[in-house]
Amino acid sequence: MSQIIYGPNNMTMEASTNLKDLSRTVIEAELSSTVGIADKVIKLREQGETVYDFSAGRAFENTPQYIIDEAISALMSGKTHQTMARGTTNYRKACAKKLLRENNITADPEKEIIATMGTKQGLTIALLALLNPGDEVIIENPCFVSYQQLINFAGGISVTVPLLPENDFRWNREDLEAKITTKTKVILMNSPHNPTGTVHSIKDLEMIASVAKAHDLYVIIDEVYERVCWDNKQHICLASLPGMKERTIGVMGLTKGFSMGGWRIGFVYTSPVIAEQLEKLQQHLITSTNSFVQAGAATAFGESPRDEVLQYWKEWEEKCNYVCNALNDIDGISCKVPEGGFYAWADISSFGLSSEEFSKRLIEDAKVAVIPGASFGDVGEFYIRVTCVKSWEEVKSGMQQIQKFVKKLNTK
Ligand code: PMP
Repeated sequence: MSQIIYGPNNMTMEASTNLKDLSRTVIEAELSSTVGIADKVIKLREQGETVYDFSAGRAFENTPQYIIDEAISALMSGKTHQTMARGTTNYRKACAKKLLRENNITADPEKEIIATMGTKQGLTIALLALLNPGDEVIIENPCFVSYQQLINFAGGISVTVPLLPENDFRWNREDLEAKITTKTKVILMNSPHNPTGTVHSIKDLEMIASVAKAHDLYVIIDEVYERVCWDNKQHICLASLPGMKERTIGVMGLTKGFSMGGWRIGFVYTSPVIAEQLEKLQQHLITSTNSFVQAGAATAFGESPRDEVLQYWKEWEEKCNYVCNALNDIDGISCKVPEGGFYAWADISSFGLSSEEFSKRLIEDAKVAVIPGASFGDVGEFYIRVTCVKSWEEVKSGMQQIQKFVKKLNTK
């Protein structure tokens, strides 16, 4: 005999009467739409279909060879054992060197840096270390699809503040302060921003720092796209502003800038007091980040990026410009060229279709995969997110497919 157990929206699960319900928090979590759609593309391709994939934020290029060589050499020389929970001294020193060289931050590799298995894992331990049940976390709307779920997993409650086109997808002080209650503990933000492409200016950051200090809040800042800023824009670390390091957890990764998504590597930097708590979490959750992966990543961060990496970034900027121009040339679609990150955040409101419906028809009719804007929060409804950094062939053919698709929509 079986019973239907508690499930999210339209999902039901059958379970034996003898088994108790699974975790409500996990059952209620939504699947990751970005990962889900990217997985669907892989499946369609395995079935022999041609699909133009602009879904997940993965660049076309493989990891630069010099980083791969370093990881192989680490494996060959016996670096096959777990490392310290905080990460190898070599990797942490490379992270500290990078922070000083590029981000104007002095961080003690012994006390203020923790290696993580990617940015998401850094965000997870940051939230686990800061939150007690019921604490409120302010997040952007739209924002990266995992924030809300990770906050729920850590027992927190997310409170959204919209990023609106009329404010150039930036917060203003009044909107932000209007959402602060006695339960607010953390601001979780992302710059450069996925999906809107905003790179927060010094003025934006000074406002956020001032709000954080006035209301005694922590800030977790997701800086996974910090290397990819365009048109000479520069990412500024919030923790480099006066008085902010002690209340900030900066989360960085190599997934995007170095095309290292499969390596699962990043790091967090913060105060020694917070880092001590993060170390405990790493000990119990993962023991350590992979040994040989840290060796490769140490090379990436320990020195200025080599020519091949600079070449990737140059091409990515060109592709962002190309995709945005191509989309703006299509009747009914408009988007801004991103200041950073590698997504076009395209307004499709003129078609009168939800972002979900538009994206569904786009993949079914034109074999083009994008992410519906509503996946990033309700403010994202009537937008689609298009990842620009695919091969030139895919980028050019994909844009033509979208153009043909829209032409048909407009003539219906
Ligand atoms: N943060 C943001 C804003 C992202 O867009 C992504 C990946 N799409 C991540 C975190 C996850 O990064 P990682 O793969 O390093 O865990």
